[in-house]
Amino acid sequence: MKPAHYVNGAFTVAGTSFPLRSPVDGSLAGAVPEAPRELVDEAVRAAGAGLAGAWGEASVEERCEFLRRIAGGIVERFDEFVDAEVADTGRPRELAATVDVPRAIGNFRAYADLAYGRPERAHPTNVPGWSGGGRALNYTVRRPLGVVAVISPWNLPLLLLTWKVAPALAAGNAVVAKPSEETPSTATLLAEVIDEAGLPAGAFNLVHGRGAGGAGEYLASHAGVDAIAFTGATATGAAIMRAAADHITPVSFELGGKNPAVVFADADLAEAVEGTARSSFTHSGQICLCTERVYVQRPVFEEFVAGLAERAGAWRDYGPMISAGHRDKVLSYYRLAREEGATVVAGGGVPRFGDRRDGGFYVEPTVLTGLPESARTVREEIFGPVCHVAPFDDEEEAVRLANDSPYGLAATVWTTDLSRAHRVAPRVQAGIVWVNCWNLRDLRTPFGGVRASGIGREGGEYSLDFFSEPVNVCVRI
Ligand code: NAD
Repeated sequence: MKPAHYVNGAFTVAGTSFPLRSPVDGSLAGAVPEAPRELVDEAVRAAGAGLAGAWGEASVEERCEFLRRIAGGIVERFDEFVDAEVADTGRPRELAATVDVPRAIGNFRAYADLAYGRPERAHPTNVPGWSGGGRALNYTVRRPLGVVAVISPWNLPLLLLTWKVAPALAAGNAVVAKPSEETPSTATLLAEVIDEAGLPAGAFNLVHGRGAGGAGEYLASHAGVDAIAFTGATATGAAIMRAAADHITPVSFELGGKNPAVVFADADLAEAVEGTARSSFTHSGQICLCTERVYVQRPVFEEFVAGLAERAGAWRDYGPMISAGHRDKVLSYYRLAREEGATVVAGGGVPRFGDRRDGGFYVEPTVLTGLPESARTVREEIFGPVCHVAPFDDEEEAVRLANDSPYGLAATVWTTDLSRAHRVAPRVQAGIVWVNCWNLRDLRTPFGGVRASGIGREGGEYSLDFFSEPVNVCVRI
């Protein structure tokens, strides 16, 4: 798959290219063209023109039909999408085939259904004191925001891109998407599918390139962009917010996390160990929802740590870090943890496979204990297959520890005490709290973080709310 931009209904490879490396073995995997500023300008202009033309004229039925066609297009090219996602990220094939690509299809289908079924509101009004008689019919319609910039990360490239593109299009916006420079392939395939689905020119545009100093930064500061939907690191969110400030461009932000799991002594321990292993090591910890802080009630602490260390040691079929740079960052935290006084109870290094993967960007699933809450390893997002486990004594302490973080994306509570689950879950400062499970997602439910983990919610109606604004019309009758 050769990454290409898609602007105003046409593909181009304009711009100088930079190399793309396979995270599996470090080999040269291709080249990504960096969209020049003029091409970003053209994409924003084309999006505006699309809104003023055929795409802006399309009815909600027509838009939803386009979304279904896009879903159908991904179904037809399912294996190509899986291959491209595996090539860019090195993730296990099964993950791409059972999560990433099916979810992309689901995103387009779900928003086709949701957007079509959305009611508008009317308020018959009677304000007796109003001069001349206060009878009116108020009705509220939602209109698209306009040109929406979608800036997405590398960790779940297709899933997170379509999670924004589908509702943005369903609500009638035109999109300029800038996927991560690390993972350009499935975005390019998506542009092909959208092209084949016959969307009017300008409705969807794709520009590749880097973030800071590249196409991403330029797009975020563009005067022609009416809203920015961004998923990525918190520091990047701050930079985008600054770039957006000049034009008061609204933002929807899904940012980083340092997600806690709280394991009470009454939990089903085997389930809690298995669930925590999954939540810490799946996709090598490169999911924003992954657990990096685990708090375990003291009577079961030793048993839990031993169980989790065993699972970490036996964890197989894991993918690499996305890049050499990210691998080095994660390894620097493994070193830092030791310097800060951690006990490394599992992992902590680089695995040896005896095959081509030894040239790739792998790190071992790692379990740490013994650090104070003030340690950087416990406070900062690492985004690798690693968690720190610490003991607690009672419910109050568990809640305090879970909340002692600048972040607030997701949390997991393990307990068999129903009352405790309902007491604790709402007190945890996170946008998403799971009880006795992890990453069980219904696409209609709100998704997002508090504090440094984001602004706004995505999912179901929440995405459609962000991607449209209500306009009230008051007609005197
Ligand atoms: P990143 O912030 O480095 O990059 C994300 C995107 O932003 C990329 O497309 C990048 O090119 C672009 N970008 C970078 N700097 C920019 C700038 N100054 N202006 C405009 N665009 C810019 O993030 P990443 O490393 O790709 O992804 C990992 C991060 O994403 C982690 O922090 C993770 O927690 C977070 N994440 C959050 C969620 C969520 O739903 N909350 C989901 C996935 C990932």
